[in-house]
Amino acid sequence: MFQKILIANRGEIALRIQRACRELGIPTVAVHSTADAEAMHVRLADESVCIGPPPARDSYLNVPALLSAASITGADAIHPGYGFLSENAAFADMVEAHGLTFIGPSAAHIRMMGDKIAAKSAMASLGVPLVPGSDGEVADMDEAARVAARIGYPVLIKAAAGGGGRGMKVASSADGLEEAWRVARAEARAAFGNDAVYIEKYLDRPRHIELQILADSHGNVVHFGERDCSLQRRHQKLLEEAGSPALTAAARDALGATVTAALSQLGYRNAGTLEFLYQDGQFAFIEMNTRLQVEHPVTEMVCGVDLVREQIRIAAGQDLGYTQSDVTFTGHAIECRITAEDPETFTPTPGRVTAFHAPGGLGVRVDSALYAGYVVPPYYDSMIAKLIVHAPSRAEAIARLRRSLAEFAVVGIKTTLPLHQRIVEDPQFQAGDYTIHWLERFVAAT
Ligand code: ADP
Repeated sequence: MFQKILIANRGEIALRIQRACRELGIPTVAVHSTADAEAMHVRLADESVCIGPPPARDSYLNVPALLSAASITGADAIHPGYGFLSENAAFADMVEAHGLTFIGPSAAHIRMMGDKIAAKSAMASLGVPLVPGSDGEVADMDEAARVAARIGYPVLIKAAAGGGGRGMKVASSADGLEEAWRVARAEARAAFGNDAVYIEKYLDRPRHIELQILADSHGNVVHFGERDCSLQRRHQKLLEEAGSPALTAAARDALGATVTAALSQLGYRNAGTLEFLYQDGQFAFIEMNTRLQVEHPVTEMVCGVDLVREQIRIAAGQDLGYTQSDVTFTGHAIECRITAEDPETFTPTPGRVTAFHAPGGLGVRVDSALYAGYVVPPYYDSMIAKLIVHAPSRAEAIARLRRSLAEFAVVGIKTTLPLHQRIVEDPQFQAGDYTIHWLERFVAAT
């Protein structure tokens, strides 16, 4: 097992990883920018190292500073969390080149899945169904027009290097194609330094359903069921559920069998999530994330597994020690992502939290690095807390969510708590009757 783990992240996920390490008896090193000197992940750390000034590119993305911090503290492994360097294959390579363990998949698999075109073609060759679209990269407008005409409008132009919903544009007809093409490429170039794009059929009413997997380095692959992440705004998830209100156990098992077989053939290792669109009873793969996801707690609640602990054990070379038939699903879990944003305009609201009270009680989990007096800095992602509830049934989980949201107090800055309160009261949400387009309309209508 590792002697010491450096956590290359901040906020709630840095705390989340710290907690798993502590339960495993592994000391941790926290890193922080100058803006985060008072952050909870630093205050609770065994030791901490300042790695640079506030902008992420100078601190949390500063590879030499991170490697130096690991070296001077004697850490022998790095957990990247999500975001920042978690899906940076060059970073994973460098960590290993310095004799440290990267807690995640191989750099080769990170690289493969980071290129969505390569990811789709790998998955197709392993028998995983895809969203209809171009066969790989689309080189120019003429080809784009031909592909769009073949698959039928509306189509979606997507960046091969895409992430966070950027570099993605819909063309509803041939008239809009050139504009969508131009904007998607420009966005992709600006955000990722890579303007390669591909085209997919734009599905009109899918759900976003993703499957959590773990694979050890001894050939064992197990899935932990699905998460329904259809409630999105600008392709960004706001609320997630496990299981999906739209999926039967048989459909989950069938998808799970396809996915675990594919990843086993691929020789994949550590945690991963395969994202699908699900419409008319059909799954279509869109991408794979080679890291821990923000929404991993809903899976932990229904499966009773600590996914971060498992990531660490796998990276240390240990066996999973269980098989698919040992994985069971109990009850229903829902997560709300609470951000420091105006609940109507979604403008970020950094500033001082003057009072803070987290809900509690049976089946309630709050993953957050907030505390009274904390100043939410303007430099990073605006998510400040995740509220996760677990109950025997979906209806009971919703009741628990309603009462937990009412208990939750973040004073001093505006947050999206009121938006979540409105979602919970909506009859369509309560009926589980929603697609990826539902929230956008809900926000516009209210
Ligand atoms: P990113 O990596 O930027 O998050 P994804 O490929 O994961 O991009 O897609 C993000 C979201 O965009 C999906 O969850 C879904 O809501 C929407 N989306 C992606 N592809 C399609 C498609 N072909 N049709 C309709 N919606 C899509």
